[in-house]
Amino acid sequence: MQLDRLREATLEEVARYLAGVVQRDDFKVSEICDVLLKKAVLAHASDLHLEPCGSGTRVRYRIDGVFHDAAVLPLALHDQLVSRIKVLADLLSHRREIVQEGRVSLEIGGTKTDLRLSVVPTVAGEKVVARIFAASQASFQLEALGYDEAMQRRVRAIVLDLEGLFLLTGPSGSGKTTTLYTILHEIRRELDAYASIITIEDPVEFEFGLWSQMQVNRQASLDFPAGLRAALRQDPEVIMVGEIRDGETAEVALRAGLTGHLVISTLHSGSAPETVTRLVNMDLEPFVVASALTATIAQRLVRRLCQACKDEVALDPAKQGLIRRLWRGAEGAELRAYRGRGCETCQFTGYAGRLPVAELLEVDEDLRGLILEKARTSTIRRALVDRGWRSILDDGLAKAAAGLTTFEEILRNVSLREVL
Ligand SMILES: [Zn+2]
Repeated sequence: MQLDRLREATLEEVARYLAGVVQRDDFKVSEICDVLLKKAVLAHASDLHLEPCGSGTRVRYRIDGVFHDAAVLPLALHDQLVSRIKVLADLLSHRREIVQEGRVSLEIGGTKTDLRLSVVPTVAGEKVVARIFAASQASFQLEALGYDEAMQRRVRAIVLDLEGLFLLTGPSGSGKTTTLYTILHEIRRELDAYASIITIEDPVEFEFGLWSQMQVNRQASLDFPAGLRAALRQDPEVIMVGEIRDGETAEVALRAGLTGHLVISTLHSGSAPETVTRLVNMDLEPFVVASALTATIAQRLVRRLCQACKDEVALDPAKQGLIRRLWRGAEGAELRAYRGRGCETCQFTGYAGRLPVAELLEVDEDLRGLILEKARTSTIRRALVDRGWRSILDDGLAKAAAGLTTFEEILRNVSLREVL
């Protein structure tokens, strides 16, 4: 299929085209692979799944967080398809019983895109997942991340201070890595003459060639704490640690933050206030947490309403009541809701692209006091709310009321567990 045609084709057209290809006697598996991989990139999918099922090999794309079928191919082709992809990624194509990981670099119309490949043996055959890191499409500007203006300003001020520990939290696929990379770009743009930057990642999602990137390598005993210690020996101003998973890494990261370095990282937790208590509960000295932690962001990605076909719609009274109960910003205001009618721009889904909903917690005197007292998450949250803090739910509901997304999308993606 020609590149221009592939670019324009809907997923149904691609599926029909591939169904036609496999009917021919002289078809090549390499062509099928080529179409599937390239279309995944062109359709802005975040990942491609190749899954052997009873009825055939199911190929699905995840676009804006939702799966779409790209093709169902005969099961007889499955092993050949997987072999072809493994060859592209320099993996062992004859080994079908082991877990393998690799990388494929695709060039489409002059633009290079990296795909990270994982192959897992299942009872029905090997399942392949390719994660697409569309760095070429990202601008790595803070303005482009989708945070509101006040938050952009605060984040910029905090990270350009080049000090302390700055943490992000959110489920996988919530844009944390893009935010971390954006912060590094921002520092490089603003403070290149003053900052040496190094990262420790598992895996390195994208090679920028702009600063040093270390890959975790457990066989060589290079894990997050060891990598972080090694990085500190070279006295960099800025260190990005892919993830803080254990007390040891957290401890070294906090100490580094206390001694004149900026450490940015991610930590698994449900919210910004919970990130603070998680750290304290990793058996760390509360005063170290209180002095080194500067801020934390919790975020989710939600689908953006298609701006080409959105209509204002009535909000049913029950939902209106719920939203008013959840959102202080709704007080006194008339609640507006929107829905995408569906058009070509959004492939008739009503949504096009994604945007983050987020909460930023800055550690100030009051919060430092609460950390020293080992306060619970709910206590920290209450103290913040009393001061008019904007939670992720406030941010999301405000974005829905402004027609950037829908209330359904927010209620589906943001946990109400801590609020209700
Ligand atoms: Zn539309």
